[in-house]
Amino acid sequence: MNGRCLKAHLVILIAVSIMAACSDEKSEQSTPDSGTAVEPDATSDRDTGDDRDVDESDEDVDDGDGFVPWERPEEGRWWAGDLHVHAAGASNDAAPESTPERIREVAIERGVDFVVLTDHSNSTGSDPWTLEEDPALFNQGPEFPFWDKALALSDDTFLMVQGNEISPVADIENGGSGPTGHIGCIPGTLVDFDPNVAFVDRPRGEVTGGEALQQAQDVGCFSILNHPFGPVFWISYDWTSYDYDAVEVWNGGAGFNRFDEEAVKGWACDLSQDRRVVPVGGSDNHKVEVEPPGTVFDPPLGTPVTWVWSDALEWDEIISGLYAGQVSITDTGEPLEIDVFDASGQWLAMAGGDFQADQEVWIRVQGVRGGADEERQLQLIRIPQDGCDDTRAEGQINVPDPNWEVLETWSVDGGATVDEKREVNAEAGDVFFAWMVPEPVISMEEDVAISGALFAR
Ligand SMILES: [Zn+2]
Ligand SMILES: [Zn+2]
Repeated sequence: MNGRCLKAHLVILIAVSIMAACSDEKSEQSTPDSGTAVEPDATSDRDTGDDRDVDESDEDVDDGDGFVPWERPEEGRWWAGDLHVHAAGASNDAAPESTPERIREVAIERGVDFVVLTDHSNSTGSDPWTLEEDPALFNQGPEFPFWDKALALSDDTFLMVQGNEISPVADIENGGSGPTGHIGCIPGTLVDFDPNVAFVDRPRGEVTGGEALQQAQDVGCFSILNHPFGPVFWISYDWTSYDYDAVEVWNGGAGFNRFDEEAVKGWACDLSQDRRVVPVGGSDNHKVEVEPPGTVFDPPLGTPVTWVWSDALEWDEIISGLYAGQVSITDTGEPLEIDVFDASGQWLAMAGGDFQADQEVWIRVQGVRGGADEERQLQLIRIPQDGCDDTRAEGQINVPDPNWEVLETWSVDGGATVDEKREVNAEAGDVFFAWMVPEPVISMEEDVAISGALFAR
């Protein structure tokens, strides 16, 4: 880390310290030795998706047609992935020990099934203070330096894919260029993808977030708005386009924090305006050796993960599960599942799917909370169509208000299994999701879970 980079980090430190100072109680909770910290091995039991697979031989009533009430008949299971991990080699802000080999080892220790390496497209990473560019650090591509290595490190039990974080460079020295944005570029396929491309992230202050997004889509990436609301302006999104596939509703920096909560609200507003945007999370880990729960600046690999429901741990299957929105985001627990059934218990849809509104329906929420004993509130949310007070505007960092309705709140103890059903009156255009969060959200929050969305039509 050089002096300018440190300066950038200090700005972040100040911002986060101000937030933390708002709540003594929450500051205490975030200290690693307070008893609420996650043990390093707490995430190693993650591959428990199997036990919620449909088991044809179980004792649930089966009327002979394969119908098991209140169960999802889809084959598949949940796979835990980290979609935002920095490796050494393409920009100056990843630790030298963050090699693909070491990332693979640590990911497997933590129960993570797949990792996408997302090195910055520019050599200076997210640091706009470094004006001297290092020609040894791949300034103009290759953008996918570990493409072949990632493929070589993948097998039947673990997947590694090289993506990119397209990072337009802000013109911080000349009065600031305002927000631009970082775009996660996740290869849509491993077969026809051309890793020999160069993204344009300069001249300083002249490449918009929308242009970065277009570049991701032009090369066939699943595109993610990373950390859309900061915490600092030069990595916030500028809202020059709303044509993204996903929003990173949980960036691992500073645990789950206020800026992640804002990203959830932005995502909810997209849904209310009929844009089927997928919620995802990513650790944004830059130092592979950081242990959970990490620190404000250094999130650990695998915190959080994006769970994806698919038939197999193969990239084509995982990416189609992502496009379909069959996801959940958690740090310590198991995936928070959301399904909808008719009154007879006939399954209608899982996260990412839609159902007919003009009938009696029940939403079932299932999961297992990780972490400590402190109570968490699990909420079932209805997002009304066109209900968002959308204050987002080009070049501005305004957080929209989705005006959602909390249909029900359940309290959940640490380690508890969640399995709740509730009847809902859905109107066409309504969207539903569930999440488990502390109230209020400050910084370094743990044991958070977010489901994918259900769409009433
Ligand atoms: Zn970023
Ligand atoms: Zn990043």
